[in-house]
Amino acid sequence: MHVNDHDRYDLLVVGSANADLVVGVERRPAPGETVLGSDLAVHPGGKGGNQAVAAARLGARTALLARVGDDAHGRLLLESQRAAGVDTTGVLVGGAPTGVALITVDPSGDNSIVVSPGANARLAPEDIRAAGALLGAARVVSVQLEIPLETVAEVAGAMSPGTRLVLNPSPPAPLPAHVLAVCDPLVVNEHEARSMLGGAAGATPEEWARALLGLGPRSVVVTLGAAGALVADTRGGDAVRVPSPQVEAVDTTGAGDAFTAALAWRLGRGEGLAEAAAFAVRVGAAAVTRRGAQASFPTAEEVPVGGV
Ligand code: ATP
Repeated sequence: MHVNDHDRYDLLVVGSANADLVVGVERRPAPGETVLGSDLAVHPGGKGGNQAVAAARLGARTALLARVGDDAHGRLLLESQRAAGVDTTGVLVGGAPTGVALITVDPSGDNSIVVSPGANARLAPEDIRAAGALLGAARVVSVQLEIPLETVAEVAGAMSPGTRLVLNPSPPAPLPAHVLAVCDPLVVNEHEARSMLGGAAGATPEEWARALLGLGPRSVVVTLGAAGALVADTRGGDAVRVPSPQVEAVDTTGAGDAFTAALAWRLGRGEGLAEAAAFAVRVGAAAVTRRGAQASFPTAEEVPVGGV
């Protein structure tokens, strides 16, 4: 398919969309016990849905390829994506109930979460093959691991020379070498880095990045919470630290998704890895200053300017 440059999506996110069902509790029930909780809050979530909303809110031309159920949660998720400006023509409907995360929050703010993947687990390799035009129209494709691994592998195999793959291995799972080989970058937090490296992790983020590059991706970004991020590239040079602006963190939920979406968008605009990460840490910092996941994502005007 021939795609004119102005017809291209800045970012195509292939991933999960969940309804997060949140109830506050004084304490968690023991087996066989019932406790009363607060009123139910329903929030749009899932790593794929979060990244798409984060990018669209920044002004990126964004599309989402995902699967939701033919139910009220699915309609809510589609509506929230569209409200953020995401193109949802690639969102498939049906096959299983919409994915949900059942979340209880105790007074100390700790979460206990049960995820029912539902329709996310039915996003199949043939769905990716059927969406070839969408994949061919994206400058950057971002994918996470809340969908089946064989579907992620199909996405990786469908990358054309003009399209860049950004992969966040969350939740962590072993990735085949042919998938790792096209990641540019592999984006991990500390937990994901340690999980991928096992005993070979080393002591510093610089060592993690070097060891992760040894697994085959073209580049690596390690997010470091309040410390920002570290980027490393097989095309040469040392790993580079990218500090974050200092902010008062209120709720870090979704910060990693906001970071990755911002990074992917800027890479698609031709920025280098360190330059794109310097923008992404500002987006991540803005996201932690507000409650919620998608609700906390900034518009371009709300991203703190320069400096650290
Ligand atoms: P989460 O799971 O909370 O979405 P994560 O664990 O995947 O995030 P982190 O490394 O904690 O990833 O955070 C991602 C990015 O968000 C960081 O690189 C940084 O830019 C920003 N960030 C996170 N926490 C803070 C903080 N306390 N202050 C400033 N920026 C932060």
